[in-house]
Parts: sequence; C-alpha cells; structure tokens
Amino acid sequence: MLRNDDQLATWDRENFFHPSTHLAQHARGESATRVITGASGVHIEDRDGNRMLDAFAGLYCVNAGYGRTEVADAIAEQAHQLAYYHSYVGHGTETSITLAKMIMDRAPAHMSKVYFGLSGSDANETNIKLVWYYNNILGRPQKKKIISRWRGYHGSGLMTGSLTGLSLFHDKFDLPMNPVIHTDAPYYYRRKDRTQSEAEFTAQCANALEALIQAEGPDTIAAFIGEPVLGTGGIVPPPAGYWEAIQEVLNRHDILLIADEVVTGFGRLGTMFGSDHYGLKPDLITIAKGLTSAYAPLSGSIVSDRMWKVLEQGTDENGPIGHGWTYSAHPICAAAGVANLKLIDDLNLVRNAAEVGGYLNASMKEALGDHPNVGDIRGEGLLCAVEYVADKADATPLDPAAKVGAAISAAMLERGVIARAMPQGDITGFAPPFCITRAEVDTVVAATADAVKTVLG
Ligand code: PLP
Repeated sequence: MLRNDDQLATWDRENFFHPSTHLAQHARGESATRVITGASGVHIEDRDGNRMLDAFAGLYCVNAGYGRTEVADAIAEQAHQLAYYHSYVGHGTETSITLAKMIMDRAPAHMSKVYFGLSGSDANETNIKLVWYYNNILGRPQKKKIISRWRGYHGSGLMTGSLTGLSLFHDKFDLPMNPVIHTDAPYYYRRKDRTQSEAEFTAQCANALEALIQAEGPDTIAAFIGEPVLGTGGIVPPPAGYWEAIQEVLNRHDILLIADEVVTGFGRLGTMFGSDHYGLKPDLITIAKGLTSAYAPLSGSIVSDRMWKVLEQGTDENGPIGHGWTYSAHPICAAAGVANLKLIDDLNLVRNAAEVGGYLNASMKEALGDHPNVGDIRGEGLLCAVEYVADKADATPLDPAAKVGAAISAAMLERGVIARAMPQGDITGFAPPFCITRAEVDTVVAATADAVKTVLG
C-alpha cells in the first residue's frame, strides 16, 4: 500500500491546516483524523470501513445526495470539452449561460441577473460591493452601513465574517469591522420575557431594528442581510410575521434587503427559495451550496430589477464594472450546477424535502418532545434542530462547560449517524440530503433519542 493509515494521520497532522478545528489538539494528535473515502445516497464511508448516515449533508450542501453519476459525468464531459475560459468582458460558455438561465427561471419574478462566485462568503462580499456601488451611483455616498443579526452566518472573510453574528468568528480577529452593525436574532425560544407571544416578540424585533436605524441615522443604512431561517446560529425559523414586519421597516427607510439563501436556496425549505416560503422581496439573493449540491464550488449573487437598472446606469456613466473573479462562472462548476438542478427537478426533490422534512420534524417531536432536558424542537422543510436545557420551564441553558451538544453528536456518531453540534448553544442540527427516505429518517430519530438518553439520562 502506498500510504498506510499511520502515515496518513502523520501527514495530516504535519501538513494540513483544517478549517474550524482546534489546531493545537489536532496537531498534537489528540483529535481523530477522519479520512472519508466514498459516499452514496445519504451515506458516507471512511477509511476504516465505517458507514455513516450523513444527516447534515456535509455542511448542508449535498442536497441531491452523494454519488450522483449524472453530475459526475457532466463535470467530466465539460472538463474534456472545455475546462476553463473566463467570463470577463462578455465571455461565457454554453454551460454557464445555460445555468444562468436555469437560475433565473427559478428565482423570484422581480430578480434580473446572476453574478457567479465560488463560495457563499465571496458571494456575500460581492453583494456588499454592489450595495455600495448602487448607493454611490444614486448619489448618496453616506448610505453605506450594513445591518446583520446576532446569530446570523454569512461567511468568514473580513466583511462576511463581520456580517456573521457569532463571537467565535469575531474574537481575536478584530471583527466585526465598520460599517457592520448587528440587531436582535429572531430567536423566539430564547426570548427574555417568557410570557411574550410570538406576535409580541416579532413586534419587539421590528421595534429594535427601527430603534437601531434611528440611532445610526436612516440615511447611513444601506442594507439589511438575513437568512430566511437562521442556520449556523442554531437552525431557528423566524417567529410568525417576522419577515413582513422587518420588510415594512426596511421599505420605510429605503434600505435594501439581502436574502442569504446559501442554505435555503434550491429547495431545502420545500420551496425553491426561502424568499418564496416567507414572502421576502429581496434586492439581492445569495446562493451557493445547493446550486451544485457541492459537486463543485459555485455561488451566485442574484440581482433584482431595481438594482440592475442602477448598475447599468453606473457602467454607462463610469465604464465597465470593476469586479470579477478569475473563476467566475467556471465551466466545470457550471456543468455541475446544470446537472444538479436538472436532477433536483427530475427526482422531484424539492417536494421530497417538504414531505420528508415534515416527517422528520414531527418524528423528532414525538420521540423527544417529553424529555425533561429537551427544551425546543424546531425546523422547517429539511432543517431541524433539537435544543437542550437544564430547566424546561424557563429554558435555562445547560452549563456550556459540560459540552452536552458535542457529546450528543459524538454519541450519535457511535450509532452511525452524523448530526451537527451547532457552534453556539447545546443544539443538535439536522439538514440531510433531499433524497432521504422516511425509513432513513426513522434511523436518524432513533439514534438521536438513544444518544440523548445515554448523555442526559
Ligand atoms: N451564508 C450562509 C447562510 C451559510 O450557511 C454559509 C456557510 O455555511 C455561508 C454564507 C458561507 O458560505 P461558504 O462557506 O461557502 O463561504
């Protein structure tokens, strides 16, 4: 054998800088080297021959499921025919132009064009630049601040890490940077006043936003960015009426809305976009993950009609737009996107996400709803979260030092199921591939219940 397992572990420890990893522990060999070798459907396999049901679809991205030969073949064909050409100064390929058309056919009717990037983070960087360009062209250079939400996740670059509202992504990195400001998370379960109704909590979120805008000056606020359902911040669907109330505030102050649909785009909520699901009318939509089901890195910024008109005006006045990546609309990634979106249609996977997602959420509630340390079970479509507490009556959190969320995910892994210990709070997150069956959901729910019993009694 070329490399034995010990060699791989050594090479890994000595050479590989892993993202979102305890670097010192890993370098010292105190945490496991996990070498994934293959996958099919909702299952992945590692080098030791373990087969695991991936109930988080990688990082909520392998929406069509693993091992899709249709997508792999499309990538190979494109690589043979034309591996690369750029998309600057009006260049395109048959595949990238086709994909742009497929995306715009699926996007909300008031959207106009799509710009291609490679990751959710870079798409959100593009979005902020477009927002600033837009306001400069409209002659309001002071309207530049961006409002994001605590617990939002929008990437981990300089600007996007600032937009992200999780301390892990700020601390020791000197983030958030100006001009990003954060407002309240729409996290009804974690409301301070336990007597508050959902409607009252929604009104409180809208009032807090209004107060922030007034304090900063409405003429200084350019845009608001939010995920239709908070993802990495804890998988939190918004309280009733939330998006309606927020959009009312934004419209009143002429503040653009960026819907970050990196997780929700292309079907995860059981609708093509989260914007369709919650009646959002965004000016920009961020897409990534589900666009190719992660078979190749590709993202996009979908631009509304009203913004597009101003971008055109800008280039008429100033010449070509000074924004572009070498790999924008990369043909190999675009080929993955075309094949993936076709597969999602052909297999009716968005409908499956709605149906089996409903089953997942209902089954989880049935299995765990009565457990004294399970405070909340929430979700939408194929997103689901279970939140653990010390005291159910007033939602008292568990001692973070006990790391219960991590222990439950570890216990699930021992039972052959992958679920994510969400980074802030004791929360287990589920976001399986759209092709998951009810029988596979039963396996996930049984493993969760069993792991919870082992860790919490
Ligand atoms: N936006 C959202 C809502 C995300 O969940 C993520 C990643 O999880 C990103 C942006 C960043 O995407 P990427 O990791 O591809 O940069």
